[in-house]
Amino acid sequence: MIEIVGGGLIGLGCAWELQQRGIDVVVYERDLSRRTSASWAGAGMLGALAETFPDEVWRQRALASAAMYRGWVEALGGSVDFYEGGADADGHVDPRDLLRELSLRVPVKERVVSSLGELEGEQVVVCAGAWGLPGLPAVEPVKGYLLAWDGLPAGSLRGILRDGHTYILQRENGRVIAGSTEERISFDGSMDAQVISGLRERAEEVWPLLKTMPVTDCWFGYRPAAAGAVPVLRRLDERVVLAYGHYRNGILLAPWTARWVADEVQRQLGK
Ligand SMILES: Cc1cc2nc3c(=O)[nH]c(=O)nc-3n(C[C@H](O)[C@H](O)[C@H](O)COP(=O)(O)OP(=O)(O)OC[C@H]3O[C@@H](n4cnc5c(N)ncnc54)[C@H](O)[C@@H]3O)c2cc1C
Repeated sequence: MIEIVGGGLIGLGCAWELQQRGIDVVVYERDLSRRTSASWAGAGMLGALAETFPDEVWRQRALASAAMYRGWVEALGGSVDFYEGGADADGHVDPRDLLRELSLRVPVKERVVSSLGELEGEQVVVCAGAWGLPGLPAVEPVKGYLLAWDGLPAGSLRGILRDGHTYILQRENGRVIAGSTEERISFDGSMDAQVISGLRERAEEVWPLLKTMPVTDCWFGYRPAAAGAVPVLRRLDERVVLAYGHYRNGILLAPWTARWVADEVQRQLGK
């Protein structure tokens, strides 16, 4: 049995890929609603073209992962809101649809894992996002807010409107999403009205139509940032694989990461 710590998009994606290869998995997740996960909070831009990556290796991985998305969405039965990018424009996906569909396909148990020592799986994969586990390479939470507007007709906006760190996209159901902010203030659970109104002003500058509409929702999440913003993706020892710290691009990088982790686990199992 392969035990996976964390049921965000990275953990669920790894579990699904392993299961498709005929390998038994279980995902341990402390919050089955996922509302505290970065994956639930994320905008879902597949920003392989517009985002900055730590190096060329990760940029190539991002491009490869973006190209894997159509296959992922189709294999999940087509009920995922997905806007495909092209050679010169990034696409986007609704990460909450992905969480829902993946959770239906892999076994997820409610459990808080306190240390690696309590796990007994043949292989263990750590996908605990911004929380990490004791004794492992550190990861820091970087808080980010998103805003939503409902009521515009679907199809009012195609692709992603971007200006620096401000971006706007529209879901298939018409909901418009704008992001984002970055604060290194640990797991502070408050809603900061000043930061939110700053984000709203930036979004209204990028798309003035939003000035005429009320904001209908606002939430935040914690991006997992490892040292140098480089994801922690490696084998720790014969039993443990680390897959966390995807920072601003974990939704984009989920398919590629799942494949890398499954290859690594399969190699170790000799299957
Ligand atoms: C506002 C915002 C906007 C973003 N926009 C984008 C975007 O447009 N595109 C993009 O690619 N990325 C985006 N990101 C980043 C992306 O969301 C993350 O990189 C990605 O979701 C990380 O996935 P994860 O599975 O590693 O972590 P998470 O989704 O946080 O999942 C980790 C899970 O592990 C669980 N867990 C942690 N510790 C334990 C434990 N000890 N025991 C049991 N369970 C545990 C947590 O409860 C959590 O559910 C955004 C993030 C934020 C906050």
